[in-house]
Amino acid sequence: MKTKLLDLICCPKCKSDLTIVKHGQNGSETAALACGQCGKSFTTENDILHFITEEEVLRFNKRVEFMRSVYAHFYTPLTNFMFLPCGGVNNARNEVLSHLEIHPKSKILETGIGTGDNILFLREQLDGGTFYGLDNQMRMLEKCAFNCTKWNLKAELCRADAEQLPYKDCTFDVVFHLGAINLFENKKQAIDEMIRVAKPGTKIVIADETEKASKLFAIFQGKTPPVIPPIDLIPATMLQKKLEIIWKGYGYLITFRKPQQHDLLKPEL
Ligand SMILES: [Zn+2]
Repeated sequence: MKTKLLDLICCPKCKSDLTIVKHGQNGSETAALACGQCGKSFTTENDILHFITEEEVLRFNKRVEFMRSVYAHFYTPLTNFMFLPCGGVNNARNEVLSHLEIHPKSKILETGIGTGDNILFLREQLDGGTFYGLDNQMRMLEKCAFNCTKWNLKAELCRADAEQLPYKDCTFDVVFHLGAINLFENKKQAIDEMIRVAKPGTKIVIADETEKASKLFAIFQGKTPPVIPPIDLIPATMLQKKLEIIWKGYGYLITFRKPQQHDLLKPEL
């Protein structure tokens, strides 16, 4: 267990500190993390911290689970194909990721990292920073870990629910989510969690497909509820709230800034 990571993570349920505990004996001990407050414990497997179990994943985000587990191994070419009408995958990523404010040594969090293609895109900008990513699909995370090794890129990965982030308050300099928030059961909670773990002053970036794309890709995704960009779920205390249509009408981009502490007292202009 990396002690540096332990400084950043917390119990996803009650947000209390975690401590390392050992299971087993006589040389077959395995390390786990335990929450002193609510008693939950979490394991590590192949360097990936597990904050949710398979049973918990199956309870929610069923469509995402299906999409991502079935398509994990050809998710990247499929995504590339799906981005064709949006102007190509690199243009599509750039339309979102160019809004991130990455500085030297930034801690960068992607909530829903998938196979890691976005962090590959951002690699040149890393400059001493660190990537952190979560997904609720094990096959995605395994593919992401495989890709990171192939790309000689380091990312701290965990299996977690974007609606219950296992990170302490005000931890990250960059927080973003690209794709899949449309399918979350509790988008408000996912957005509130992104805000909670972002440092004050951080610009937060969220993008997903519009109704136009949803209809076009129904062949892959099946029938989904009408897409409403979740701009109204951004708290009124956030600054510089903006909703834009991107990807030639196939995507939306929401950006806003978490206020510095003193800004919280000011009404939004
Ligand atoms: Zn707890």
